[in-house]
Amino acid sequence: MRKRTVLITGGAGFIGSHLCQRLLGEDYRVICLDNFITGDRGNLRDFSGNKDFSLEVRDVSNYIKIPGKIDYVLHCASLASPKDYKQFPIQTLKVGSLGTHNALGLAKQKKAVFLLFSTSEVYGDPLEHPQKETYWGHVNTIGERGCYDESKRFAEAITMAYHRKHKLDTKIVRIFNTYGPKMRKNDGRVVPNFIHQALSGKSLTVYGRGGQTRSFCYIDDLVEGILRLMLSGYNLPVNLGNSRECTIMQLVKLILKLTGSQSRIDFRKLPQDDPQQRQPDITRAKKILKWEPVVPLEDGLARTISWVRG
Ligand code: UDP
Repeated sequence: MRKRTVLITGGAGFIGSHLCQRLLGEDYRVICLDNFITGDRGNLRDFSGNKDFSLEVRDVSNYIKIPGKIDYVLHCASLASPKDYKQFPIQTLKVGSLGTHNALGLAKQKKAVFLLFSTSEVYGDPLEHPQKETYWGHVNTIGERGCYDESKRFAEAITMAYHRKHKLDTKIVRIFNTYGPKMRKNDGRVVPNFIHQALSGKSLTVYGRGGQTRSFCYIDDLVEGILRLMLSGYNLPVNLGNSRECTIMQLVKLILKLTGSQSRIDFRKLPQDDPQQRQPDITRAKKILKWEPVVPLEDGLARTISWVRG
């Protein structure tokens, strides 16, 4: 039987490269597109020699032409760290809007299933807690995070338009905070920041007073959920994340304990529009995908710390 082909944009990034590896392990052919603005060739090292893997260096904000049959288009490309989208706001808006349009066009031409990688940021600084897929969100369009949030909200809207108008089989995953091996040292997000700071004896930079919450999902759990969604018949957005909520100060304590570090805490200014609370309601994923995270935060952090040490 012919192997199924998956094209993944942003396949050299943190989440993208884990997905490439998993898909190759499940016997798919994988075509990875990346412009390496935040992606990393090192992430592809484990499987770049696999005959079923190919890499195309390109920016998906420009028209995408790829020969041959494609069964699934996964649009994962994005700048996803607040540090990155603050530095590259226009590229962030372009990959979320033009990039999504181009990836949808490719999926339509190839009669492929399309999966959009959306985000919990579509909920903004949420007024509802925990966040269900039916919540419309609370976003500052002109704030520092607006470039990311609004591009992803546009991406969801155009995905549903292609679904309704062109009958494309589309899926939308709203990804909550995810962590694990292969996050860049200078990624800027809280888990890699704290781990690198703790291991090098530097102060842990806590933004604000650290009372804000996030819910952290280990990468393997997320990848499992994405694969299930890709193969499902479901077209509305699905939250994927871990529902265990913790404050940033609780995360500090956990990372200090797991690393055995004596690092101190350096309280910094809270960035603009930093969401105060974030926790996914994953009832829909449990019901539709029979999915829920299985890796406890302590275990996932320990694995990530040992990867950073290695
Ligand atoms: N944060 C922090 N110190 C850091 C990096 C982040 O206290 O060095 C906080 C940040 O203000 C936010 C939370 O940790 O409240 C998660 O930030 P991150 O950049 O990981 O992603 P976000 O969930 O905000 O997109």
